[in-house]
Order: sequence, then C-alpha cells, then structure tokens
Amino acid sequence: MLELHNLTKVYRNSEKALDNVTLSIPQGQMVGLIGPSGAGKSTLIRCVNRLVEPTSGEVRLSGRALTGLKSRELRIARRRIGMIFQEYALIERLSVMENVLSGRLGYVSFWTSFTRRFGPEDIRRAFGLLDRVGLLSHADKRADALSGGQRQRVGIARALAQEPELLLVDEPTASLDPKTSRQIMRLLSEICAERGLPAVVNIHDVPLARQFMQRIIGLRAGRIVFDGPPSALTEDELTLIYGLEDWAAMRRDVEEDERASEEARRDRAGSHIAEAVA
Ligand code: ADP
Repeated sequence: MLELHNLTKVYRNSEKALDNVTLSIPQGQMVGLIGPSGAGKSTLIRCVNRLVEPTSGEVRLSGRALTGLKSRELRIARRRIGMIFQEYALIERLSVMENVLSGRLGYVSFWTSFTRRFGPEDIRRAFGLLDRVGLLSHADKRADALSGGQRQRVGIARALAQEPELLLVDEPTASLDPKTSRQIMRLLSEICAERGLPAVVNIHDVPLARQFMQRIIGLRAGRIVFDGPPSALTEDELTLIYGLEDWAAMRRDVEEDERASEEARRDRAGSHIAEAVA
C-alpha cells in the first residue's frame, strides 16, 4: 500500500506544484494520474521516490515512511520502487537480458555489478520475466535492435527484476502507436493484478486511462479535483480537470485520432481483400 499524507511541493520562486495531496493506493491497484500540463503529475511521481524532495507531508510505502530517510536508507528503500519511463532508459549496447539484470544492481555486490556476473538465481528470474513480457526469444538481442513496444517490455521486466513493492510509471506509451500502447497498458494492468502491486501511472491519454485504469485521479494546479473509477469520469469532471477550452481541444484531437485509426483499419482490411481477390 502506498500512502501520501498532505504532500506539498513548492519549487523555488514558484507556486505550489503539489498542494496537500492525500491519498492511499492499495495492493494491486493501478491508478492513472491525469491533468493538464503543469498540474503536478510528474512532481507527484517524483516526490514518491524523492527524486524531488517534498516540501512537507509524508510518503509511506508498506507502512514505512520514505520521507525522512537518510541517503543510505533511501537507496535501500528505492530498490523496492520500480520506475518505468516513457523513453525506456535502456542501455542501448547491452543485450535485452543484461538490461533486465541491471534491475538487480541495487541488490548485488560491487564486484558482481562491475563484472556483470550475476548468480543463477538472478538469471533464472530474469528469464522468467522475459517470458512474462513475451520477449524470451529476444534475450540475446541488443536493446537498440528492438521496436518501441519491445523496448518498453524490457523496461517493465527490468523494473520487475527489482522485486518492487510499487511501480511508478511515467507516460509509458507517449512514444508508441495506439495499438502498441494498448498492449503495454494491458500488460501493466495484468502484472499489477498478478503481483498485487500498487502502481501510479502518469498518463496523458484520457481514453487509454479510461480503458485500463481501475481508478483515475485528476490533478489541477497541484490539487486532486477528481478521484474515482473511469465510469465516474464524466464530461463535466473532465472539464473541471482540464478547463473548458483545453478539454474541448483535447476531445477534438482524440476524435480525430480515433477517426484516423478507424480509416487506417478499414484501408488495411480493404487491401487484404484486394490481395485475396488478386
Ligand atoms: P505535469 O507533470 O502535470 O506537467 P509538473 O509536475 O511537471 O506537472 O509541474 C508542476 C508545476 O511545477 C509546474 O508549474 C511547473 O512549472 C513546476 N515545476 C516543475 N518542475 C520544476 C522545477 N524543477 N523547478 C521549478 N518549477 C518546476
């Protein structure tokens, strides 16, 4: 369980980026953070693992306070927080397997990390994770030989290699096409459910959030203005989160995207028929 109590962040010379945020996320729940640019989504995610130092308030993971930990204890606590990024953050020239094993680096000795000679247990676990994300046959490929969706799968396997108690996920699908985005979101939601992992996902794509999140939190100017299931996220709530003008513009973009992908689907179906007839 992740608990935030009155979490506030004020950057130097700036307004409150987070304003008294209190929430708790039980085991296995994947929560989507939505809100306009500058609402505080990244700040919230970064305050949880203290990449950004909160100004006040408390963060607890599995009952233990992360706020207040000194650097060594914080390093140990961070092992239990898996981060998944938009830009994957893989080591390009290393193999898929080595990238997954790098998720173990917080646990192994300096010498092991220096020589990258991991034990059989670490390797067995990494193979299991690659199997789970559908990349077993790619274990020896270099990371830079993979597609965007495959790279994100490696990012997920690497985060899981840490044996996390929490996943923090920052715009996981921002660089992916719509179909691959849905596959990645489905994989993440299945993994959270299977492992009982709580997850906070910064997601700019409202339809995707609606489709895959059990719970959505809407932020506006650092405050929670919506917290509920996707079914409760009405047009009025979206207008409250994004403001009238921004939501109307976003909705137009979404409708255009949906029309374009429907047209592309019809074109593909048409060309299959043409091929079959020819
Ligand atoms: P979001 O992820 O929702 O776009 P952010 O968390 O990045 O929002 O930003 C929230 C607010 O904090 C914004 O007003 C932004 O300008 C400000 N902010 C973010 N990072 C910094 C920083 N390093 N220094 C100063 N202000 C920042």
